[in-house]
Amino acid sequence: MSDLPLHPDTVAVHAGRGDFAALGVHAAPIDLSSTNPLPDILHGGDSYESMATGGHPLPEGGNVYARLWNPTVARFEEALAELEHAEAAVAFSSGMAATTAAILSHTTAAGKHHVVAVRPLYGGTDHLLDSGLLGAEVTFCHEAEVGASLREDTGLIVLETPANPTLDLVDIAAVVAQAQGVPVMVDNTFATPLLQNPLDLGAAMSLHSATKYIGGHGDVIAGVIACSEETARALRSVRAITGALLHPLGAYLLHRGLATLPVRMQAQQAAAHELALRLQQNAAVAEVFYPGFDDARGIVGGQMRGGGAMVSIRLAGGYAAAEALTGAVRLFTHAVSLGGVDSLLQHPAALTHRPVAPEARPGADIVRLSIGLENVEDLAADLEQALARAASVAAMA
Ligand code: PLP
Repeated sequence: MSDLPLHPDTVAVHAGRGDFAALGVHAAPIDLSSTNPLPDILHGGDSYESMATGGHPLPEGGNVYARLWNPTVARFEEALAELEHAEAAVAFSSGMAATTAAILSHTTAAGKHHVVAVRPLYGGTDHLLDSGLLGAEVTFCHEAEVGASLREDTGLIVLETPANPTLDLVDIAAVVAQAQGVPVMVDNTFATPLLQNPLDLGAAMSLHSATKYIGGHGDVIAGVIACSEETARALRSVRAITGALLHPLGAYLLHRGLATLPVRMQAQQAAAHELALRLQQNAAVAEVFYPGFDDARGIVGGQMRGGGAMVSIRLAGGYAAAEALTGAVRLFTHAVSLGGVDSLLQHPAALTHRPVAPEARPGADIVRLSIGLENVEDLAADLEQALARAASVAAMA
């Protein structure tokens, strides 16, 4: 790539393509090898050792085995790292596999068994932490309580901003300032690297469910963490041992998805902002959650370069209206997940946040909308007719 500083739009198109000219290709080659021929025992073994301990393959020893290294995955990781202003990135088979690796790599060392987690979080992340499955003890808290929640054995601080599903904003730098050197992991799924770069604010890791905006087309499940090379070594080592690797076909699609991420995000964000404004005027909607609407701290425009493309609403008619809305939409698909080119809507309390402890679960009157690339007037018309239906159903309930 060019030595000149490049705009993220350009980085998104060109990153991770540095070896294409030498290979004589224009599209990323997909290496599907599960294993690789070894030059000899000595060099193959040295390369194996390097990768099993989180390093790169040694040129004279090769990639050895795809659970350790895959060039198609590595190109996607390189591109994502560049967009996140990070030294490295490590890709996983899902966002949850990435979160698992981050927790394991920071809480299994002697004397480090505690995690501080800022709620709200994606329901799966909350559930994983709360379950104790990975052996870590967890203190859930508000962002202002992070410093007070730290213990001698705290190995990791976890936060999400904007947070799922009410789009609460967390001041990343303010949490880092309380962290006393404990690594902070930010789930950056909703913002994407185009709107927010947590490492620039002192976070140690920026995690994405790449299933969402990075893939952008609803056809890949994946996770990725941008971080320092030192942290990447620890994460790769967990990935190699636990086998939570990303398949190269998925990595190919994600790398391709990055090229259109800036234009997708800009268009989806513009539509989401417009719809959020109109939803505020709709009598069937008691409250609209959209980053920036109630942001006295100026996080949108500061830490985050825009409000993003997610909108949540509280229905005036409560759960009955929420249920009716999910059945009444015609253009929106009633489905979990988010960040794709087509608009989705779902009921977090019943679905994505079902495993969350009752005191932290979102209200039954909340519906979350992921705004896609359809024409904004068509989306507005669909919501208007569906909300009218939902209001009349709720009135009869
Ligand atoms: N983080 C956030 C903010 C999410 O919304 C999700 C999934 O919905 C995840 C993490 C988990 O990602 P995945 O479903 O790819 O495992």
